[in-house]
Amino acid sequence: MTLEREREAVVRHAPALADLTPARTGNLSVRRGDAFAITPTGVPYDSFDATDVPVVGFDGEQKDGNMTPSSEVPMHTGIYRHDEPGAIVHTHSTWATTMATLHESLPPVHYMIVAVGRRVPLADYAPYGTEELAANVVAAMAEAGSSAAIIENHGLVVTGPDLETALENTRHVEELCRLYLRASAVGEPTTLTDEQLATVEEKFASYGQPDPE
Ligand code: 13P
Ligand code: ZN
Repeated sequence: MTLEREREAVVRHAPALADLTPARTGNLSVRRGDAFAITPTGVPYDSFDATDVPVVGFDGEQKDGNMTPSSEVPMHTGIYRHDEPGAIVHTHSTWATTMATLHESLPPVHYMIVAVGRRVPLADYAPYGTEELAANVVAAMAEAGSSAAIIENHGLVVTGPDLETALENTRHVEELCRLYLRASAVGEPTTLTDEQLATVEEKFASYGQPDPE
């Protein structure tokens, strides 16, 4: 089976989307080389196995898998072609999507923003599943130097070196959007300076447990 590990990762992690996005919305993918395994379109996230998981090439064509791929193949293909992350998660999660309806990008109101960059930009609206949307998302992420983007009147997209990290950072961004909107309801949230963010970036380089010998 082609991309067996990646397709199994999609099956294993897709159910996590249930906590992040309503019903059958959202999608995720894992890349190896110039192809990726992606969730099938329009099905519950616990209703398929690895042989069903579509494999798509950088040319956007389906190479393998019994089911039809996500309608957002152009967005995943566009992002992978641009900077080759290991994985992509797309959600309509409540707080990020609230930002999307307000056409607000996320400023650095908390140091955990550094997990994805110094801010989360806003990508211009275009219909879901289009090349235009893909181009808008790639442009917003590149301009901001961010591995996440809020998509106007749609949702959120987050990339990572692997699916676990992309999902974890999706949760971070969702929580930061929640904090930002709650703080905005009371006053004007303060933001960290570039110097303060640079310090966090340095500290993040050695955060966590040391690598085993
Ligand atoms: P798919 O079910 O085709 O992945 O579409 C969900 C979605 O979020 C489209 O933007
Ligand atoms: Zn969507």
